[in-house]
Amino acid sequence: MGFLDGMKSLFAGGGSEGAYSHWVYVRCGRCGEAIKTRIDLRNDLSQRDEGGYVVSKTLVGSERCFERVEVQLIFDEKHRVIGQEITGGDFVTAEEYEPSSDTR
Ligand SMILES: [Zn+2]
Repeated sequence: MGFLDGMKSLFAGGGSEGAYSHWVYVRCGRCGEAIKTRIDLRNDLSQRDEGGYVVSKTLVGSERCFERVEVQLIFDEKHRVIGQEITGGDFVTAEEYEPSSDTR
């Protein structure tokens, strides 16, 4: 009990915004830069005719290149991700986005 809630607030920084945020981590297919974006589950989602929600985002890296990474996520009615597509890059995990140590 409470474990998942604790995890959620941990990842979201503990704010009340966290419950309505879904973070997406990608890696640019051209330069390899890691990019993240926040999806606001209250404002960014569009309802689908067949049920659930869909959101599209375009991510652009900060400086190295201007490649656009297009992502589309599909959520069910309970805001769980049930599908995702990406062009121009790859999805990565939060751990891959922010490696704690990368010494070689
Ligand atoms: Zn890039």
